[in-house]
Amino acid sequence: MRKQFAIIGLGRFGSSICKELYHMGHEVFAIDTDEKKVEAVRGLATQTFVGNGTDENLLEQIGIRNFDHVIIAIGDDIQASILTTLHIKDHNVPNVWVKAQNDYHHKVLEKIGADRIFHPEKEMGSRIAAYLTSDTVLDYIDLSADYSIIEMLATKKVAGKTLVDLDPRKNFGCTIIAIKRAGKVDVTPDPSAPLNAGDILIMIGDKRDLRRFREGQL
Ligand code: ADP
Repeated sequence: MRKQFAIIGLGRFGSSICKELYHMGHEVFAIDTDEKKVEAVRGLATQTFVGNGTDENLLEQIGIRNFDHVIIAIGDDIQASILTTLHIKDHNVPNVWVKAQNDYHHKVLEKIGADRIFHPEKEMGSRIAAYLTSDTVLDYIDLSADYSIIEMLATKKVAGKTLVDLDPRKNFGCTIIAIKRAGKVDVTPDPSAPLNAGDILIMIGDKRDLRRFREGQL
């Protein structure tokens, strides 16, 4: 379904979200105070505006209340980010997603009703740390402080073993939700089929359990 997004702040984060959503076929309004940033997404957004997210007249003029999602990706100007979030929540937009610069900013955004808060640098940092510290971790999504979804490479050590043999749920408290093989994802893997070295196991669980599984099995 085609959705309507407004993105306020077109730095690296805001502009890349803008392009992705537009390529996915959604309607995207892109706004930044900096004309050059707006120019850079022209043709990669449905409509572009040079303007300030804190400007209530501009928000009114573009009919911000009609958007399903507003993404606020204003960088260092925390005050502008907070004020923009407040105005947009006042317009009853159902999904207001905001990029936070630090923990203090996060707390304020939470208090004023931001529906989702991103820390792209921090999130990317923990993903990269996970790749750097393991040869078998291919991708990683943090679900919370404790839980994550992880893609792990099956090594020679598990080749020939089946999911029944490994039984990660019983032995480690984590679950294999899918297996990627030759570029295809199998979301209902056969528990009695042997694994190959090079298969990618997509697993969910507590980070400590996932680490125990990785260290024990792979
Ligand atoms: P990133 O880490 O995403 O690259 P930046 O700080 O580089 O973050 O980008 C933030 C963007 O937000 C900049 O393009 C800046 O011009 C824009 N911006 C800052 N304040 C406002 C505001 N009040 N309204 C709209 N855009 C803003």
